[in-house]
Amino acid sequence: MPFSHLSLCPGLELAFASLGYSRPFPVQEQAIPAALAGQDLVVHAQTGSGKTVAFLAPLLHLLATDEAGTLPSHAPRALVLVPTRELAMQVRDRATELARHLPLPLRIRTAFGGVSVNPQMLALRRGADLIIATPGRLLDLVRQNALSLGALRHLVIDEADKLLELGFSDEMDAIKRLLPAQRQTLMFSATMNTAVQEIVHAFLKAPLTLHVEAGLDLAVAIEETAYLLPQEHKGPFLRELLAREKWSQVLVFVASGRRADNVVRKLGNNGIRALSLHGDKSQSARIDAMEQFRSGSLRILVATDLISRGIDISGLACVINYDLPRSPRDYIHRVGRTGRAGQSGIALSLVGPEEEAHLGLIEKKVGRRFLKERLAFNA
Ligand code: AMP
Repeated sequence: MPFSHLSLCPGLELAFASLGYSRPFPVQEQAIPAALAGQDLVVHAQTGSGKTVAFLAPLLHLLATDEAGTLPSHAPRALVLVPTRELAMQVRDRATELARHLPLPLRIRTAFGGVSVNPQMLALRRGADLIIATPGRLLDLVRQNALSLGALRHLVIDEADKLLELGFSDEMDAIKRLLPAQRQTLMFSATMNTAVQEIVHAFLKAPLTLHVEAGLDLAVAIEETAYLLPQEHKGPFLRELLAREKWSQVLVFVASGRRADNVVRKLGNNGIRALSLHGDKSQSARIDAMEQFRSGSLRILVATDLISRGIDISGLACVINYDLPRSPRDYIHRVGRTGRAGQSGIALSLVGPEEEAHLGLIEKKVGRRFLKERLAFNA
């Protein structure tokens, strides 16, 4: 099906063409017509399936063609709630790209913590059509009278499971009380559990539920290998891999912020430049690391699961699990950072003896057997 069958405004079709999108992905093909019809939606979609465009395209179309948009209003008509600051910036960038060819410029704002509130307040004072926010900062801005949600017509809850995992349920309750009853709500979640179901009941009205399997097919393009080795050999083996393989960029996942800093330090001691990204770093350091990695000036980023969700780095060749993630779900998210949008990718896991049983569990849960290599080291 070509994009033209989705009846989106010409400016959006132009944006798809300039982004090199030739046809909608399955999640877009299914979600966009329902969203344009005003339907509430619950979408189960794997990471990398194209879900951001699945909600941004109808949202931007509705904002651009809505007559109220021509009235000078300060309050945003659409809100996208996301769990992390990095994801907020990424969704903002995607929205800006997609909105570029619309006849009327849309005012796209962000609200996320860890940075000064003043620039966000100033931007809101100039008016907003769409705001992309993390829950805590959004509520701060409302409490400081810098933002009203009274004119909201469209709400997107992205990565709902992650929002709950990060302990945002009280904030979600508070946001719920600020929302107008008359609105459309679209919710995206990689997994469904009782807590996510509660969000569905609290926020959505007679939603249509879509299951999009495409992510699983996309993941097949990823070559997955597990190296079984003693824990203390992980560092030397990582260095050997980085020197031997000619990957343009590598994302290394570790279990904790401390471990990320340790790995970066040890690489540095061996003359290999890397940066870490985790929740204990300042927001400016997080933005800086992400920007360097995105622009290609940084080859190696060592991160925790903070960025295993949703973050899209185009053409990322390789993901290395220096530590296995605790949950198989996080394994899928981490590995989903490579092999995006149907490109091939490489995912390697360094598995210590005490992690081998857990590797078996991950294989069982994701339904794939990885290639395994047991590495022998001479003492
Ligand atoms: P997402 O799951 O939203 O993070 O998107 C994953 C990747 O797919 C991003 O790099 C998008 O730019 C890309 N993408 C989204 N929709 C399409 C499409 N219709 N054609 C080609 N690439 C797309």
